[in-house]
Amino acid sequence: EISAATVSEWLKNYSAVISEHANELTDLDRQIGDADHGSNMARGMTAVAALDPEPFASAAGLLKKAGMTLVSTVGGASGPLYGTFFLRLSTVIKTDGEPTAQLLADALDAGLAGIVARGKAEVGDKTLVDALSPAVDAAKQVAADDGSAAEALAKAAEAANEGRDATIEMVARRGRASYLGERSKGHQDPGATSMALLVASAARCLS
Ligand code: ADP
Ligand code: MG
Ligand code: MG
Repeated sequence: EISAATVSEWLKNYSAVISEHANELTDLDRQIGDADHGSNMARGMTAVAALDPEPFASAAGLLKKAGMTLVSTVGGASGPLYGTFFLRLSTVIKTDGEPTAQLLADALDAGLAGIVARGKAEVGDKTLVDALSPAVDAAKQVAADDGSAAEALAKAAEAANEGRDATIEMVARRGRASYLGERSKGHQDPGATSMALLVASAARCLS
């Protein structure tokens, strides 16, 4: 069931994963950015993981609060983008209940739309969109084939990993890495890496 308690488990799991990978994310950002993606995400997710789910009547309420917390605690591009992602999720996961593949696909799609509205990145621009967009497509495909919620998230996680790997060969066109132009090629995007971890965490915790 997707309840405030389930969402809280997911957020706590992702926070732990981010802490484990913080150095790796910061090292990736050192190659093509300003070496703070791991610390940015760790600061934000530590604040989110500390939220008590008790006062929130629903999954949506906690998702909304998580989004606002990320926007307010993370300086840098990733805070508003991840914040918007969770805020948009809360508009689709409105009521608690058993998730379907369609609901999860719609939720991820809404999160992606929010990130694109805010950051204007397209697929191929070497950003976290390159991990999330294929994940949305994979989840939609499972929903169209009448697959389960668990299958939708498992396929989404696989697709996100592939999308993350594909950023290595891309030239950055958004964010700090775009200042490097062609020299951004050959490096994995830090935001795509943290996004792939987010989808994998969802696959473990939400179905
Ligand atoms: P900053 O670049 O401000 O230091 P972070 O290092 O925390 O912020 O995050 C960098 C990541 O944010 C990049 O690796 C990229 O994936 C993502 N990003 C940056 N700008 C955009 C954008 N306009 N749209 C989508 N993602 C973006
Ligand atoms: Mg940075
Ligand atoms: Mg920065």
